[in-house]
This record gives sequence, C-alpha cells and structure tokens, in this order.
Amino acid sequence: MPNSAALRRSLLASLLAPLAVLLLGGFSFVPPTPRVALQEATVQQESFAQQESKAQPETTAQRETTAQQETTAQEVVVIQNGNLVNVVDGTVAEGVSVVVEGRIIRSIEAAGFEPPAGARVIDVGGRWILPGFIDTHTHIRTLDAARRALHSGVTTVRSSSVDAFQDVGLRELVRAGVLPGPDMVAAGIFVTPELGQALLADPRLIPLAGGVNTHEELRLLVRVNAERGVDVIKTRGTERAGLPETDPRQQVYDEAQLRVVVEEAARHGLEVQAHAHGDEGARAAVLAGVRSIEHGTYLSRETLELMRERGTYLVPTYSTVVDLTQPGGDYDDPVLRVRGSHMLPRLAETVRMAHEMGVPIATGADTSYGPESLLRVSHEVRRFVELGMTPMEALRSATIVGAELLGRADTTGSVEPGKEADLIVVERSPLEDIGSVEDVLVVVSNGQVAVNRLPFGLGSH
Ligand SMILES: [Zn+2]
Repeated sequence: MPNSAALRRSLLASLLAPLAVLLLGGFSFVPPTPRVALQEATVQQESFAQQESKAQPETTAQRETTAQQETTAQEVVVIQNGNLVNVVDGTVAEGVSVVVEGRIIRSIEAAGFEPPAGARVIDVGGRWILPGFIDTHTHIRTLDAARRALHSGVTTVRSSSVDAFQDVGLRELVRAGVLPGPDMVAAGIFVTPELGQALLADPRLIPLAGGVNTHEELRLLVRVNAERGVDVIKTRGTERAGLPETDPRQQVYDEAQLRVVVEEAARHGLEVQAHAHGDEGARAAVLAGVRSIEHGTYLSRETLELMRERGTYLVPTYSTVVDLTQPGGDYDDPVLRVRGSHMLPRLAETVRMAHEMGVPIATGADTSYGPESLLRVSHEVRRFVELGMTPMEALRSATIVGAELLGRADTTGSVEPGKEADLIVVERSPLEDIGSVEDVLVVVSNGQVAVNRLPFGLGSH
C-alpha cells in the first residue's frame, strides 16, 4: 500500500476514533475505536479494558493509538484447516488455510501450511468456509441492525431505501474501519410518489411534499440522492405488498417516468433497482433499463424472457412473502396473511421459471434486521434449494451473483486472493445440508473477526 494512502487512512482513523466514542459510546456492539474493532467479539472484555487504558484525550495518546492501529491493520489472520467452497468454479478444496492480511485475502494455502510467526490462527477443525453472504435487498437503518446482519453471515448489503440516508452513514463507518461490516451499497430515499417521513431527510425535498410524479420531480429526487452520495437508486413499478390497503399488482410509474429515473441516475453514474410485483409495472421497469426487479411475484414468461435477454437480475425476496403468511416477524396482519397465502405459490412459480430460463437471481431478505425480524439471507438460500436450485447454485446466488449485481465481483463474493476478506464458517457441508448456512460459527468481514463461536460451540460466551 502506498504511504500516502496509509497516512490518509491513519489520519482518518485518528479523526474518527474520538467521534466514534462520542457517537457510539456505551453501545455494546460498536467497538469505540478502530483498534478495538480489530479484536474478536468473544474477547470483548479484554478489548474494553485495553480501550480504557488508551482513552486519554492527549495528542501523544492519539498518535500512539494511530501507530498501533497501523500495525494492527497489517495483522495476519489464518483461518486454518477448512473445506473451502469455491463458488466461482463450483469445487471444494479440503483442509486449506485462508491467509488474511489487513482487509485482504493474501493467499489460500494447501493442507500442512505452517502459519507465519505472529499470525493469529483460527483452526476451524475441518468445518466449511464460504464467502460472506450478500443481501441485495435490505432496509438497515440502525447500528444494531447492521450487527444483526453481520452476525447472520452477511458481509455485504445493498440498501433498498431508508428514510434518512442512514445507509450512507453506515457505509462510511464500515469504510473507515469503525464497524467490521457489512459493506453497504446505499440507496438513500425511495423514488416513489409519496415520500412520507422521508421528506424530512433533506430540506431540498420540500418541493416534493405534494408528490413525486412529474419528470422534474423525479429528476429532483434522483439528484438529491446522488448529491447525498448514494450508490444506487431505488424506484417502484407497482404498489406495495406489505400494506393491507394497497394492491401489489397495480402499476405505479409508467415506462416514461421510469425512463426519466434511469436516465437521471445514469447521469450520476448510478443504476436503478425497481420494486415490482405485478407484471405490467415490472415490464415497464425492465424496458426502461433498470438493473434489477425486486420481488417479481406475478412476472410473466414474456417479461422474464426480456430480463434474460437484457441481463436484468431478479431479487425475489421469497422469504418475506413467507413471512407475510406467518404470525410474528416483520409483518403480522390478518389481511396480509391471506394475501401472502395467494402470493406465495405464484412467486414460487416465478422463481422456478426464472431459474430454468437462466435469469440471474440474487438473494435479498427484504428486512430491516429489526429486533422482531426473523428473516435472514440464509433462509432465502435454503428456499432457493426447495425451489429447484442445486445447493451450489443457491450459494452462488447469495455470494458471487449478488456481487455481480452490485458491480462488486472484483472485490467480494468469493474467497480468492486479492479480494476483501469476507468469509463465514459453518458446521457441515452446505452442499449436503443446505440448512447449515443458517447456523454461522465464524464471520470475518473486511479482515476483522466479527464473530467467533469456536471452539465453544453454540450458545456459549
Ligand atoms: Zn424492500
């Protein structure tokens, strides 16, 4: 790494560390300094003790912390003796070691590898190493929610809108190393006719209090999002499924309006994801040039054919529709339960058809990872196997295919030298027992060991 970049990074870290203490102090998950962020979750008491001893607000102490952080950033972590699932070529390498240096995977070594002196070694004892999961449809807006996603094995997420640019803030905290992850692709404010609470996100949105419908209004909202630093735009082709009074089949924006959104986004170098259950609204969005259709419950074969031709991704968020049909979780409403029971078999049909036709399918749990949320991307992986994918195909959906959708396949989505160190460890072979992905034992995100339940097993501290 060039020195200037390292210097910039230390400067940033030293600026952010006290800020993080102010903002996040007392919060159990968020490590108060980047130094502590590099410690393992299971040795948290030790980390806090170390942190206390360094909490002197003096320039010297800060300089010392920065120097230590610089040293620690080069720390070598070896994930030893695991069976590595290669989602790129579909093979498994047995008994390998993954060597992580700083944020990056340095190498993958064959069985019998001797870790270098001073390396931190995590022997996973023949368990299974997979790339960290990618959740391409989330509504994470709190630090707790980010922690829940990370602890479920999700190391990269795409936001599908929040109400106040919390996703942009979370993205920056992860980039700065204050949080181990998940890496965030931010969407900011939903480009939708009624902004509701999101009207408060930026004073420039005041002209949109009466709605977002004309081409000028659509452009303004995309522009404010772009200026606030989002990575992708979220818009809608149809009404919501999750409100009792709306019909998810009803089209909202027409093709001309959706084209305006796609064109304005492209002017800022951004792609567009479109919420759509009904076929008309989805088709309009595909024709307008969106990158992905979210949900896609009632897609026709013709629209799926169009998606396959154009390389438009489908993010079915199937588990969310399952959630509609069940008590508890993100949705708990008798009307939605009945609606969900009608949507579910229809969406299952669409996913099967899309898979058979070769439409690229990525995982999205469509949850805010709130305290009541039951949904995880791992559930979506398991459902995809029930819907006709092989376990390897379902794992690819949750990793490398998701990375491709996000335009991040060169930095994440597989465990390969040179990529970000984003990986998880599970107990059994997910190729034989796909359910094992719901029980994640180790999570490494951007080189930081965020979760380690080895060797104590589940439920222990
Ligand atoms: Zn959503």
